[in-house]
Amino acid sequence: MKQWLIDTGTVMHGVFGDPVKHSKSPAMHNRAFRELGLNAAYAAFHVTPDRLKAAVEGIRALGFRGVNVTIPHKLDVMNYLDEIEESAQAIGAVNTIVNDNGKLTGYNTDGIGYVRSLKEEAGFDVKGKKVLMLGAGGAARGVAYALAKEGAAAVYIANRTEAKAVELADMIGSMTVSAGISYGQLKEVQDQVDLVVHNTSVGMHPNVDEVLIDTSWFHEGLTVSDLIYNPPVTRLLREAQARGAKTHGGLGMFIYQGVYAFEYWTSLPAPVDAMREAVLEAFRSEAGRS
Ligand code: NAP
Repeated sequence: MKQWLIDTGTVMHGVFGDPVKHSKSPAMHNRAFRELGLNAAYAAFHVTPDRLKAAVEGIRALGFRGVNVTIPHKLDVMNYLDEIEESAQAIGAVNTIVNDNGKLTGYNTDGIGYVRSLKEEAGFDVKGKKVLMLGAGGAARGVAYALAKEGAAAVYIANRTEAKAVELADMIGSMTVSAGISYGQLKEVQDQVDLVVHNTSVGMHPNVDEVLIDTSWFHEGLTVSDLIYNPPVTRLLREAQARGAKTHGGLGMFIYQGVYAFEYWTSLPAPVDAMREAVLEAFRSEAGRS
């Protein structure tokens, strides 16, 4: 591999978040730049909400090619961009900014990253399939939109706050059959679905023994997918495996949202395997330090 130096020609990228210290995006994107021999670099920036506007102005002022935005900026950042791509507009959140000579366009690569990961890693093609989503928060919005856009035959959304499930179902209602329900109504749809997608934080580290729903109805014909990637195999996925269902973890969604961002910035096919390896390495070295 060519020696890698930052110099006056280096094209800059980064991630804005609060907090941002544990982000694996710098490891992932820098590995991808190196892999393709590009003179480009990616760093993490701790941007507090009161400085978000100035930070976005800095993208233009400093000539960054692209930036990812993460919690808590995905909504507010939309106020400071020149254009917002149609799907990001519908989802109501931006996680990727592309700078074309000072014109900033916002995209959302979370949902399409999820669907691509599902296809590549679990071999699951959404077209014509019925889906049950558990949770209706920020991540679920991108996932629901991408599932509908990809041709899902139906998307049922259950959420603790039922009104949010209904609102999300309405958002995708022109693209597919959809309904927002309570967890008490799961029985009405569970026997029809091909895919279950878990979109809440229940079962995430450190609460790894938690599980959101009774999984006794899971079966061999079902694919169960969890957006959580820490731990890589949640209790929900363990229970799904025990009942013979096919499972899919959340790491791929993180990697493929980065893959799409990389491709928007560089117009080159992203080196997916190297990116995955870099993220796994970053997790391993973090675990080694703690
Ligand atoms: P969010 O906007 O805060 O939404 C949280 C969701 O979880 C809501 O639906 C909320 O229900 C539900 N919830 C939280 N605690 C609950 C409980 N005790 N019982 C039932 N429901 C509960 O969060 P988010 O950004 O969407 O993230 C959701 C999950 O996705 C997290 O685990 C996150 O790590 C994961 N994620 C993964 C990726 C990836 O790349 N793999 C990317 C983004 C997020 P209410 O509406 O009723 O509060």
